[in-house]
Amino acid sequence: MHIAILSRNSSLYSTRRLIEAAEQKGHSVRVIDTLRCYMNIATHKPTIHYKGTDLEAFDAVIPRIGASVTFYGCAVLRQFEMMGVCPLNESVAITRSRDKLRSLQLLSRKGIGLPVTGFAHSPDDIPDLITMVGGAPMVIKLLEGTQGIGVVLAETNKAAESVIQAFMGLKANIMVQEYIREAGGADIRCFVIGDKVVAAMKRQAAAGEFRSNLHRGGSASLIKITPEERSTAVRAARAMGLNVCGVDLLRSNHGPVVMEVNSSPGLEGIENATGKDIAGLIISHLEKMALSSAKSTRTL
Ligand code: ADP
Ligand code: GLU
Repeated sequence: MHIAILSRNSSLYSTRRLIEAAEQKGHSVRVIDTLRCYMNIATHKPTIHYKGTDLEAFDAVIPRIGASVTFYGCAVLRQFEMMGVCPLNESVAITRSRDKLRSLQLLSRKGIGLPVTGFAHSPDDIPDLITMVGGAPMVIKLLEGTQGIGVVLAETNKAAESVIQAFMGLKANIMVQEYIREAGGADIRCFVIGDKVVAAMKRQAAAGEFRSNLHRGGSASLIKITPEERSTAVRAARAMGLNVCGVDLLRSNHGPVVMEVNSSPGLEGIENATGKDIAGLIISHLEKMALSSAKSTRTL
């Protein structure tokens, strides 16, 4: 196959590993800088231009679209889809996964376990919002945050109220969430490919921190997940329409709850923690998808 990897930087670990795995399986690969693609939407035959020339025909495309370029990146990916190129994850599923609230709404519709979560616009509704999620301690999250930035633990109702007011004053979209204390500062990243969890790792927050993101000093280790956790992760991936994703779970008193579903999950942490060739598994899956041709996961 002739595979395009949409990535801003070909020296990133995940990009390098995907190139390596694809070449090992006899495919040709080209890394395309997402932001250097430009498109002619008006023509009958959709094309993508790149640094002055027309992009050649690819069989498959692997989107590695960073959160800060979601809008443009998904437009580029959509253009690849219009040209009949098989995407690892569809643009519509990536767009959907980037909105934390929209994602939770979709997951809740499928009956998947979630932390109790509230969303409001008016400062007048703050006291009720706090009551709705069971009061402090509670977590307040910026909808646009990533890597744990914009996730705040409020220990008292008073603190929660001030933080929510401050965010609202800045016109930031936030959601409030029950704090899953029993998770003990750990979450579980389930790496889903197709309808299987192919690897899982536990991420433990640094001492004195409740956010387990590796970017926030968390540490990763191998973990054995339960059948319920496994099926929750697979159902979450399916509900989002993602073929490859990272599903982040918390172990709560009421079973596994999904915190978020990541459509461009990093490979470094999971490959190091599990010793598995995740990049190779992704390429094998892409081969199957491209063969069965244009199998859409679009659910909306
Ligand atoms: P981001 O997308 O920025 O990583 P998350 O929603 O995943 O934001 O939250 C970051 C981290 O904070 C999680 O990995 C988890 O360790 C912790 N966390 C988030 N929500 C909760 C919650 N409701 N209860 C307990 N811990 C949480
Ligand atoms: N982009 C990384 C991932 O989702 C973030 C990892 C982290 O901060 O924990 O895989």
